[in-house]
Amino acid sequence: MTQSPDPHASFSPADGSQTLVILKPDAVRRGLTGAILDRYLTRGLTLAAMEFIHVTPEQAQAHYAEHEGRPYYPSLIEFITSGPVVALVLQGPRAIEIVRAMNGSTDAGTAASGTIRGDFSIYYQHNIVHASDAPQTAEREISLWFPHL
Ligand code: ADP
Ligand code: MG
Repeated sequence: MTQSPDPHASFSPADGSQTLVILKPDAVRRGLTGAILDRYLTRGLTLAAMEFIHVTPEQAQAHYAEHEGRPYYPSLIEFITSGPVVALVLQGPRAIEIVRAMNGSTDAGTAASGTIRGDFSIYYQHNIVHASDAPQTAEREISLWFPHL
């Protein structure tokens, strides 16, 4: 039996097989877009959507709504709107789980080497990538960033 991707497979956030990823402004600014994309695609995930976006404060607030009121919230909104980002929808079986593991823990300063955050950053907030953390989150985030999907 083959473990290769089924070209006719259909993916959706609801079953964990599609996730919203953002290459944050620090990643784009530092020229890491290609290196990070290469990791996801080489692993075997595929693209369902990709866009280079200047995030508005309104979109940033909607995306990070659950963090409103936290001490780091104002600087988080300022950071994510500080320059262009690349937003992606990645897909494949268990995409949500696999991408979170590839990204590493939130604080890049303690993220394991070999993870994207652990290899490309030393900071808590400027941690290179965002990825959806659960099917419901992925559904909400994909419809926010790619309403046509
Ligand atoms: P993740 O991005 O791993 O899902 P969270 O959802 O907890 O992490 O936080 C969203 C983003 O907010 C983080 O990626 C990081 O940029 C920032 N952030 C979270 N917690 C802190 C913190 N204590 N100090 C500074 N920035 C933070
Ligand atoms: Mg999160």
